[in-house]
Amino acid sequence: MRCTGRIETRQVEELYINIDPIQAGGRLTSDAMKAIIAYGDGYSVCDHCRKPFRLDFIKTPPVDQFHRELATFLNMDIARVVPGARRGFQAIAGAYVGRGDPVLLTALSHYTEFLAVEAVGGMPLEIAKSTSGHITADAAADKIEEVKSVYGRNPSLLFIDHFDYQFGNEHEVKGVAKVAHQYDIPVLYNGAYSVGILPVDGKELGVDFVVGSGHKSMASPAPSGVLATTSERANEVLRTTASRGDVTGRTFGIKEVEMMGCTLMGVTLMGMMASFPTVRDRVKRWSRELEMGEIVVQALRSIEGTRILSEYPRKHTLTRVDTRESFDIIAQKHKKKGYFLSSALKDRGIVGLIPGATKVWKFNTYGLSERQVQHLADAFVEIAEENGLAVSR
Ligand SMILES: *Cc1c(COP(=O)(O)O)cnc(C)c1O
Repeated sequence: MRCTGRIETRQVEELYINIDPIQAGGRLTSDAMKAIIAYGDGYSVCDHCRKPFRLDFIKTPPVDQFHRELATFLNMDIARVVPGARRGFQAIAGAYVGRGDPVLLTALSHYTEFLAVEAVGGMPLEIAKSTSGHITADAAADKIEEVKSVYGRNPSLLFIDHFDYQFGNEHEVKGVAKVAHQYDIPVLYNGAYSVGILPVDGKELGVDFVVGSGHKSMASPAPSGVLATTSERANEVLRTTASRGDVTGRTFGIKEVEMMGCTLMGVTLMGMMASFPTVRDRVKRWSRELEMGEIVVQALRSIEGTRILSEYPRKHTLTRVDTRESFDIIAQKHKKKGYFLSSALKDRGIVGLIPGATKVWKFNTYGLSERQVQHLADAFVEIAEENGLAVSR
């Protein structure tokens, strides 16, 4: 089947169980699919845009209400939609980070955090992770002191991921935020792997900004995301334009500088909005998602030589596994080499493992049904047994 002569239809989610970590939380709801067909045209949400001509004021469709609901959902005061979490980081870095400013990231930070700092000429510096693979309040305090003594000033911003993309470990957000605030450092909570799949309470965590990814965790099309903040910080990160054309004298109303005026003007916003009722509801079932993940983790642990590199017990459905002493040993003698594992999984209707990976890899069970999870768990065990690995049932 084809969309056009050159473009094939994509049927990954229809035909397979997909365990690709980055794709699990972004799968669209059927409501989003309907909305994106209706709002596919360019500036489709602008039909009823009236004064003051800003996205978050649009009443039809209820974009204004959606903004308020997003803020409530995250227990923050104000929310904006942004084209991806990365653009949220960029907006915040743009507001707080000057050329040469030290900025704290962590040893598990996503590359987009580095790039957001680099884009404004800041100096990204990492808080080390503990031996257990966690970012702790103590480590944050140590790094802040180090930065102060080396650079003679405080970092101008601190990024902390609730769950990192490498291990899916949970980090000490609340403690880190508390420490940062003792030095008056604004705290950006990176919820790329949390906002939209598990409950997030920004005020409880004590952070200044909550950034989430629509296409990673909110069942939305790319690029989409959310930036939420407190009323105290809103004036800084959401400052309105003061520009005036020197020849024409034009001014530009209340367009927000870091938002470049308006952000998501069509299909991405409507996809987010259409999925939102489902997303708001599904975060309540996070413990069930963890139970599902556990079934697969247990199956992998039963395969001799397989190690779970993520924290255990798991607090997230994204898990990093080390199979150098199990599947990789098979790969060395197998005629398909490292491809035997992804290929055996595909034969069983499972995709999302990087083809050829048999050493250290990640998977995410988010959103899978119990039957799918059981099938996945059985598949790993069967593939192990077929290839002569010992399994402790
Ligand atoms: C995926 C990811 C991002 C980037 O999110 P986008 O919405 O694609 O910009 C940032 N941080 C972490 C931890 C991620 O996993």
